[in-house]
Amino acid sequence: SKKEGKLGIALVGLGGYATGQLGPALLQTEHCYLAGIVTGSPDKIPAWKEKYKIPDKNIYSYDNYDSIRNNPDIDIVYVVLPNNMHAEYSIRAFQAGKHVVSEKPMAITVADCDRMIAAAKKADRQLSVGYRLHFDPFNKEMMRLGTQKVYGDLQKIRGGFGFKAEAGQWRLSKEYAGGGPLMDVGIYVVQGMCYTSGMEPIAVTAIEGQKTDPARFKDVEQSLSWKFDFPGNIVGEGEATYDGSMNYLTATAEKGQFELKPAYNYGGQKGTTPEGAMNFTPVNQQAKQMDAFALALKNKTRSIVPGEMGKRDVKYLQAIYEAMRTGKKVEI
Ligand code: NDP
Repeated sequence: SKKEGKLGIALVGLGGYATGQLGPALLQTEHCYLAGIVTGSPDKIPAWKEKYKIPDKNIYSYDNYDSIRNNPDIDIVYVVLPNNMHAEYSIRAFQAGKHVVSEKPMAITVADCDRMIAAAKKADRQLSVGYRLHFDPFNKEMMRLGTQKVYGDLQKIRGGFGFKAEAGQWRLSKEYAGGGPLMDVGIYVVQGMCYTSGMEPIAVTAIEGQKTDPARFKDVEQSLSWKFDFPGNIVGEGEATYDGSMNYLTATAEKGQFELKPAYNYGGQKGTTPEGAMNFTPVNQQAKQMDAFALALKNKTRSIVPGEMGKRDVKYLQAIYEAMRTGKKVEI
């Protein structure tokens, strides 16, 4: 029983991002809708049921999650759990015959990414990553300006993303998050450098920032910075922090600079080029992202943000950590 030809999505994990962004976005999508939820918190169920008109038969716990295989209303499972749970819940969804979106970072190890990709292949289903900025007009403009060399060859890309992470959440746990601000927000900077240049980094050096609050950051880095070498002597200087606010992506090319500041928000990006301010109508990034995946499934084409890209980025994050730990340049 499909709703007006739309594919049904089930959100797994009803935390901040699912509640604040993905649920509301699914009221704006054209090719998919919120068909079900999976939660370990029964107290959250009534509000979701009412807001999204979800029938009881489409409401799951982590214990009966696997029985989602018998539910034809659910086409896509969207995993919005802490980072270390993405792999297990994605693989179980594939085993239940569903397509999967995993939030970023796709997993906390490359080996987990490999297991997810293998499970997708075995099930003949698609794996996509929650990379919403590929659907943001400002970030798409960075891709266009950089890859089409509108201002000549790129020389340098700089980017930084950070916020103040309060104590007492899984983001500060190495076990759950796989690392600190690099895993959570640095990944956007890595992505930004790759899609603006259209290139892949070949080597990296990195330095951990000082821990001014060692109690809060006993498990993970408080901040770090890194430097990628891209082909053609293009440099990528990145930083990520849990100790303050930063949000920019700046590209320097032969004929000038183009940049977003802020760069990575859900909306309200501001962009400049040598010719002035960028001007784009705002979109709902998450609605665009989920519609693009639903449409790819309907048309039997590939997600533009597939599991292979998620794995590639986890590989880069791990290389940055290795460079940070060893103090040496790491070839990628
Ligand atoms: P939250 O902590 O707000 O929510 C996580 C949810 O996961 C919880 O509410 C809970 O839902 C469920 N959960 C199950 N087991 C645990 C556990 N042991 N500890 C904590 N939570 C558990 O996190 P976010 O929503 O901020 O982040 C979730 C994922 O989404 C992360 O991977 C993050 O990187 C990603 N994210 C992506 C963003 C983007 O812009 N693409 C933005 C924000 C986050 P329940 O009670 O329903 O079981």
